[in-house]
Amino acid sequence: MTSTLVLPDWLIDIPGSSPKQGWGVRVVGQVVDAVGPHDELRRRYPTDLVWKAPGQALAPGFVDAHTHLYGVLAHGIPPPPKPPPPCPPILGEGGGEGESGGWSFLSDFWWPLVEDRLDHEMICAATDLNLAQMLRGGITSFYDITEAPNALPGCLAAQAEVVRARGIRGILSFEATERVSRENGRLGLRENLEFIRAGKSQIANCKLQIITGMMCYHTTFTCSAEFIKQAFELAAGEGALIHMHASESTYEPEQALKHFGARTFEYYDRLGVAGPNMQASQCVQITPAEVEIIARRGVRVTHMPLSNCEVGGGIAPIPDLVAAGVTVGLGSDGYITDFFEIMRGAFLLHKAYRQDTQVMPAHLVWRLATEGGAKTLGLERVGRLAPGWQADLQLIDAVFPTPATAGNLYDQLLLYRNQTHVRAVMVAGQVRVRDGVVLGVDEVALRARVHRAAERLWK
Ligand SMILES: [Zn+2]
Repeated sequence: MTSTLVLPDWLIDIPGSSPKQGWGVRVVGQVVDAVGPHDELRRRYPTDLVWKAPGQALAPGFVDAHTHLYGVLAHGIPPPPKPPPPCPPILGEGGGEGESGGWSFLSDFWWPLVEDRLDHEMICAATDLNLAQMLRGGITSFYDITEAPNALPGCLAAQAEVVRARGIRGILSFEATERVSRENGRLGLRENLEFIRAGKSQIANCKLQIITGMMCYHTTFTCSAEFIKQAFELAAGEGALIHMHASESTYEPEQALKHFGARTFEYYDRLGVAGPNMQASQCVQITPAEVEIIARRGVRVTHMPLSNCEVGGGIAPIPDLVAAGVTVGLGSDGYITDFFEIMRGAFLLHKAYRQDTQVMPAHLVWRLATEGGAKTLGLERVGRLAPGWQADLQLIDAVFPTPATAGNLYDQLLLYRNQTHVRAVMVAGQVRVRDGVVLGVDEVALRARVHRAAERLWK
């Protein structure tokens, strides 16, 4: 088994703790075997391969805890000539025309022009290009949510082949919904169930947690209580987490109040499903009482600062959730995927909104972008560079106009780097990016495939 000493100028081993100058790691197989000062590592392991990385910082790879890889196909999509009639919400009367906060984005644009038109080839083409770009930008793990009601069944298995070929750590799910029909919703749940089971048998065989599944449904306004409970039961039966979009805008809590007499998380609590296996994304329009429910029930949360801006959803109370001890990760939502930009969003938005420069410090944002994301997804021993943890790592150019110090490194990297500064990436000890180049990838060919898929989608 190959043993390599990676020796950068700076090491961020436990995100959030003080960076260590002149330290490196020893990688053996797929895990980090040892951490220490350069001299000590060289003395203890004199026959190891040595990867010198002067002028660079070594950090855990980013965990994109929420993305929609197919979303790239909608970049630049022509707007509809006139909005089509709204889809009927699952809630029965109301919901649709004239409703605020996100319904028109979904019913007039995202569903009819994007998700309902997706097929396997479109999803796989978008996945492949995205994975190459994610690796290039230091992302070593991701959680993807596909909603494509007309691509059932088998879209997750097709997508998994692409992920396997790229060698990035991925959790895949299908966003089941009853908005098309109850039968389509049932097919969506089954797609997840079969994929979770296939992933578990694969892990048992090779002990490498590279591709796994997660149970997933859309929201309280496209899924009935019976359907939601069934999804939770299926997830519990497999010991799997279950994901949903939650209160991304005012629309969902307004609808929940109107139809159930309770806000989104109060409703979930009443259904008896809020708990540690719940992975709730967005959590933008939530009240202090809902923050308390999320914390008390151990619900995991993913924060998407930039896509929250895109859809005009508002600003999530992330500092309150963190203060309450909630597990929080960061996600791209398939919108802007450069994780340095996403970190800047999380770092800056809350300071402006709260008029307080002390909230969301850089070391905290780095933790959410790495170990926090891994925790919210249930990835074990991912997100730190410590003995026995997965060797998912990135080397970042750390030569700045001013001196880097242990006190400013998190800020320097967060504020003044972008994905092009990532020099190398390993996933489970395998080198995927070297000298800023994704190995084994023809990006021109991948882009041409996405162009063809986008042209078909846009017709
Ligand atoms: Zn999303």
